[in-house]
Amino acid sequence: MKAANHILEVIGNTPLVKSHTIARHVKPDIFLKLEYLNPGSSVKDRPALQIIEDAEAAGELRPGGTIVEATSGNTGMGLAMAAAIKGYKCIFVMPDKMSEEKIKTLRAFGARVVVCPTAVEPDDPRSYYSVAIRLAQETPGAFHANQYHNPSNPRAHYLKTGPEIWEQTEGNIDVFVATMGTGGTISGTAKYLKEQNPDIKVVGVDPIGSIYYDYFKTGKMTEAHSYLVEGFGEDIIPSTMDFDWLDDVVRVTDKECFITTRRLVREEGVFAGGSSGGCLAGAVKYAERMDRHANIVTIMCDTAGRYLTKIFDDEWMRENGFLDDDTGVGTVADML
Ligand code: PMP
Repeated sequence: MKAANHILEVIGNTPLVKSHTIARHVKPDIFLKLEYLNPGSSVKDRPALQIIEDAEAAGELRPGGTIVEATSGNTGMGLAMAAAIKGYKCIFVMPDKMSEEKIKTLRAFGARVVVCPTAVEPDDPRSYYSVAIRLAQETPGAFHANQYHNPSNPRAHYLKTGPEIWEQTEGNIDVFVATMGTGGTISGTAKYLKEQNPDIKVVGVDPIGSIYYDYFKTGKMTEAHSYLVEGFGEDIIPSTMDFDWLDDVVRVTDKECFITTRRLVREEGVFAGGSSGGCLAGAVKYAERMDRHANIVTIMCDTAGRYLTKIFDDEWMRENGFLDDDTGVGTVADML
């Protein structure tokens, strides 16, 4: 029998697939690491499991305990899945811009979900960061997963995502491109890849409105503005985001993310979400500056299934000014 013993054993070992239409006009090849094929349908299964295993080993999470986390949804899904197998309770705190699908998915696992306003400062007591800290303090047997400051988050990618990419490309990787939320994916993967070959370039993707781009370029904190793409970009600098590994940051608009996401699904059959479109749009922008062949790897962070009432809904796209032609996809000129 080659069956896994439980669902947590099938996290990771995701496929790597070449983008064959969207990146056709650039000299480099762009490869997509299909993290949405993880059992919780996102890249965040990896850090969720690592955080729990490391907390158990350190005695911070004990049998019957409650996992508390501020999450945009995907980490919650990974934590909830692990909690189901290991017998923990979960409380998740989410900003109110998150899709209904994400909230319902977490509730399906039996988690308590607390929704907080997006449009408040991070240190406001109503923000989802502050509410998670308070609930972790008030709940007996609670463990705050704290993905924004927990080194187990980037470690998961250092131990697994990086080595998988290195092996799948047989070391033939020139550029790694990833979105930056907590920064766990890019920091952990970059550390591993650069240890293998320091010449590999690491490029972060940032949505316009987030503070990362300016912080990387100037070292200064600017004011964040709201944007619609979910899962990446920040209004704080988490300690899990290690800028030392970054060579460059490219910016993407909501529209570029969403149009690229729709094209990913319709042209390439890659059923990935808005930040995956952001990764690919960012990788294409970076590739357009290159005048030679190279191998670029980027991340398909989560599933399109979480955005059916948004990115894949023509009405929503039109209302927000992202669809201005009749194809329902948007033109290439629009996208780049
Ligand atoms: N895309 C999506 C959909 C996510 O949920 C996240 C995690 N917030 C990211 C990208 C960014 O990943 P990381 O936190 O590792 O930077």
